Amino acid sequence: MVLMSLIDMHIHTTFSPCSKISIYDAMVTALDLGLTGIAITDHDTVEGALKASRTASKYGITVFIGCEVTSFEGHILAYGISEKLPMNLYANDAIERIHSLGGIAVAAHPFRNIENSLNNKIFELPLDGIEVFNHVPRRSVNKEARTAAIELGIAQISGSDAHEAKYIGRVATLFKDEIYDEDTLIEAIRKKTCKPIVPRKSPRHRSR
Ligand SMILES: [Zn+2]
Ligand SMILES: [Zn+2]
Repeated sequence: MVLMSLIDMHIHTTFSPCSKISIYDAMVTALDLGLTGIAITDHDTVEGALKASRTASKYGITVFIGCEVTSFEGHILAYGISEKLPMNLYANDAIERIHSLGGIAVAAHPFRNIENSLNNKIFELPLDGIEVFNHVPRRSVNKEARTAAIELGIAQISGSDAHEAKYIGRVATLFKDEIYDEDTLIEAIRKKTCKPIVPRKSPRHRSR
């Protein structure tokens, strides 16, 4: 039997200055929602993700190590790297660095705003994927990101960008295969065997 995986690919914990979600809350909330995994993508640090990944098996959820890298030109989600990058590198250099560390690079909320997003720069960068659903921006902005991912022929990723537990799992990425470690995650994104979804099961969203 092939097991699919449902992963929220973009969660901030208290290791990001702007988030209220403890590592524990991130894991139990995701589990409660029926997600199989979460990627912890704090701003410019992998500390929280590393810490969570060490205890995740106890909770029966898989934690993937990620990081939301602040490049000079906008936010880039890195997966499969276990060290942080310096801030404010040019996007191209940041992506090169992510690749040399064995990771993959995904444009975070590419059209959300001018300051934090890569915008049309995505068309010039060696990205592995684009975040096409992020719960924060307007719908039209997500649509624009999806159109760009199709045009570029790269993976469509989706993550809540939750900074409060109630937003975890609002959007997620459904993988065709079982994703149980960094290697299977990277391979699936490279092969594009994943799709962005808005999960139907969201008990916490109804109750809060
Ligand atoms: Zn961001
Ligand atoms: Zn974020």
